[in-house]
Amino acid sequence: MNEINKNENKFLKKNELCCQLCKGDTQFLGNKKVLLNQNTGLYFCNKCQSLFRFPMPSEKDLYQFYESIPFIKPTGFSRYRLSRRLRKTKKQAMALEDLLINQGYNYDTSILDLGAGIGGLIKELKCCGFKNVYGIEGRQQARDCSMNEFGIKLEPGWIFDAHKIFPQAEVICISHVLEHLDKPWEVLDYLKKYYPGALLWIEVPNGELSSKRYSDVVLWNFWLTQHLWAYSREGLKSLFNQYDISLIEISTGRHYPMYEWIRAFEFSFARSLFRHGSNVALSIKGMLAIILRIIFIYLPIKLYKYLVQRMPFISLPDEPYYLRVAGKIPSSKD
Ligand SMILES: [Zn+2]
Repeated sequence: MNEINKNENKFLKKNELCCQLCKGDTQFLGNKKVLLNQNTGLYFCNKCQSLFRFPMPSEKDLYQFYESIPFIKPTGFSRYRLSRRLRKTKKQAMALEDLLINQGYNYDTSILDLGAGIGGLIKELKCCGFKNVYGIEGRQQARDCSMNEFGIKLEPGWIFDAHKIFPQAEVICISHVLEHLDKPWEVLDYLKKYYPGALLWIEVPNGELSSKRYSDVVLWNFWLTQHLWAYSREGLKSLFNQYDISLIEISTGRHYPMYEWIRAFEFSFARSLFRHGSNVALSIKGMLAIILRIIFIYLPIKLYKYLVQRMPFISLPDEPYYLRVAGKIPSSKD
């Protein structure tokens, strides 16, 4: 029995593992890569259709990973990427503006972006006319980029530092952060304690597409290695329910038109590399098989990923399909 099979059995025994979002039963989908080079189990919830890793990487590994991943500075081709990304954040800001005005907020409302990245959403919200928009970001390089690009100062810190820095926030935004967290429910628990009555607005990649169309070896070993969760609408609704956060709206959509074709090409390319590489590697044993895998599978895919990050037209700044949810955190007297 090889190492992977042994591990699969180990995880299969833990298949009574229930989904922490909805308490539904789960099924084991195999061992996949996570962060830089760790392996862990991937599970699918039969009830809410979310996906998650188990065991999760340790907190130390997570911090180390996010401190160490290289940051692509917006020069040359990556400037094009940045401009596409800003077009996306502009749409996010406009949707949030509509929601806030509909909910009775005004342009003086205090808005906090948790895990603000390079500050794009803050910049676009300010462009919409909101005067009090702030952000917290843990990575120094991202904060520097926000300052250099937009003149926006982000406060250093991680999510659970928010109440010490911006206790007055009335609206909390968390954009493309929850999929990177090992225990997302801790965030809701924290916000309920420190921000009662606030409006919570969350955007994550749409995990329903990950589970239905892309739950394969290529996606989870190469494209989504930083993601610990792929959320579904039912999963997020259940999570809100657990913390008495009343749902205001939930929606899905896509940020980059034509993307399906590009991704379809990416995946068929990567899958064929895997198929051919695995056939070659299977017929040869030992060290040579490992070397052949590296040459025929890993290096071409890494090269493709490197290029795709830097080339205009096909370059995608980040996840194209979104799932957005907004809710009201119960006020302390509720
Ligand atoms: Zn579930």
